[in-house]
Amino acid sequence: MGFNELLNCDEVISGATDSIIMHKSFQMMKKYNIIKAVTSGSKMNEWKKANPDGIISSLMFLLSDKISPDSVRTIIKRDSIKVIGELGPQYEGLPADAPAYEPYWALAEELEIPVGIHLATGPPGGFLMGFKAIRGAAGNPLNLENVLVKHPKLKVYVMHAGWPWIDNMLNLLYLHPQVYVDISYINYMLPKEEFSLYLKRLVGAGFGKRIMWGSDQMIWPESIKAAVESVKSAKYLTEVQKKDIFYNNAVRFFNLNMN
Ligand SMILES: [Zn+2]
Repeated sequence: MGFNELLNCDEVISGATDSIIMHKSFQMMKKYNIIKAVTSGSKMNEWKKANPDGIISSLMFLLSDKISPDSVRTIIKRDSIKVIGELGPQYEGLPADAPAYEPYWALAEELEIPVGIHLATGPPGGFLMGFKAIRGAAGNPLNLENVLVKHPKLKVYVMHAGWPWIDNMLNLLYLHPQVYVDISYINYMLPKEEFSLYLKRLVGAGFGKRIMWGSDQMIWPESIKAAVESVKSAKYLTEVQKKDIFYNNAVRFFNLNMN
C-alpha cells in the first residue's frame, strides 16, 4: 500500500520546473483574485522580480541554516524583507520559546517586522518523510506565550492556526489579542469536515477578525483552488466573515497599503 492510500488523499499536480511552478502560481493568483502573496524560499527574489506588486518578500530560515541575527538584519535590508517566516522551530524539535530563537524574536520586535511561525504537526508522517527532529509536542501554541510576554510589541501570526491544538490556540488568542492565525495548508490538506470543525471553533469563539487565509502551496499551485474553495463554500460563515478571512484581516495585520 502506498503513502497516498494510507493517507486517503487526492493527488495535486506540481510543475516540472521552477519556472513552471512560478508561472502557474501567478495564474492561480490571478484566477482566485489573490492580490498579495507572502512568499519565502530560495526563489523568492526571482518571484518578486517577476511580480513586484503581487509578492511580499518573506525570510524563512531554520537554526541549522546558521544565519546569525546580524545576517538576518542585513538580509532584511538587502532584500526589502517585509515578513519573517515561516519560522519552524518545531521542525528542529524546539518549542517557540527555545532560547536559541530569542535573538530573532528580539530583532523582529525591534525592526517591527511581523513573524509567521509554524505551529502544527507538519506534513503527515513527517518523521518518516525525513523530518527526523520534528516533534508534535513542540508545536503547542502555548509555547509562544513566553515570547509574547517578553516581546509585547512583537507582531506574530500562528501558521496553520496551530492545528490540531484548538483549545490551546483559543487560549493563546484569548489572552494575547495581538496574535493572529493563518489557515494555510489545513485548508487543503485536512479532510473538509475536520477543517470546518476547526475553523468553526476559531470563528465561534469570537476570533473571526484575526484569521487570515493563506495557501502554503509550496510546489503545488493547484492546491490554491482547494484552499480557496474550502472557505468560499463554508455555509457556517457569513459573507462578511469570509471577506475578513480572505482580505480585511491580512490588510490590517500586515498594514498593507491597498490604495
Ligand atoms: Zn508550516
